[in-house]
Amino acid sequence: MGQKLGQHFLVKAGILERIALAVCPAGEDLVIEIGPGRGALTDKLLQRAARVIAIEIDPVLVEHLRVKFAGETRLEIIHADVLATDLSQWGPAPISGNLPYYITSPILEKTIRLEVPRAIFLIQKEVAERLVAKPGTREYGYLTLQTALYADTEILFEVKPGAFSPPPKVDSAVVRLVPHGRDYGVGDRKAFLKFLSASFRQKRKMLRNNLSGIYGKEIIDAWPEASLRAEKIPLEQFAEMFRRLKSE
Ligand code: SAM
Repeated sequence: MGQKLGQHFLVKAGILERIALAVCPAGEDLVIEIGPGRGALTDKLLQRAARVIAIEIDPVLVEHLRVKFAGETRLEIIHADVLATDLSQWGPAPISGNLPYYITSPILEKTIRLEVPRAIFLIQKEVAERLVAKPGTREYGYLTLQTALYADTEILFEVKPGAFSPPPKVDSAVVRLVPHGRDYGVGDRKAFLKFLSASFRQKRKMLRNNLSGIYGKEIIDAWPEASLRAEKIPLEQFAEMFRRLKSE
């Protein structure tokens, strides 16, 4: 069960402190933690925030946490699947977690849409690099743009497998996501995401191959970008193309 739920526990105190500091640079009324595990990060968060809400799916770990933090009235342990939990119910609190890597993408997708001041996550380094990738690089793609549409993202520092028990097979990194509220003039962000997803459907193909079938060959062929690949195009330019499409 442990491996399946992505259970690699952080054990390096220095790294736990740095994550807690990034979540609460100046103290917080409330912090939400995803996947508290055995409560190592929870401990550090409780030193910096007035209250912590921790969402854990594994009943054995929930029981462990209830014993470990018995009498700690500032901690609320919620036994639930984070993907099925409404994270906005506690108001706009910072979110943090050493994420279960098998559901990194859906957790990111869910949290960037919230009006939270920041999210600090420990994730696979390879995914962190995709989040901050520049156009024209191998890592640049739909995940980069979907994230940039909602949040400004920064890699804070890297974490080696030795900081965990058991060590994962991959390097990790701590990222900070700050939802920015800009919509790049696209209006309907969901429709724009469909356009982006279609643009990247076959990454190596020209835009005309990916988009003509959906938006009309004549329209797309007339675009100066028709023979470019999506992986070369920055978000602002995609937004410009989408606005053009809506006015056609
Ligand atoms: N935060 C702890 C630490 O750093 O030591 C544990 C992190 S471990 C990588 C991921 C944690 O997320 C595990 O405790 C796991 O049981 C929990 N988890 C996995 N899937 C989950 C889900 N869908 N909802 C909530 N928690 C989940």
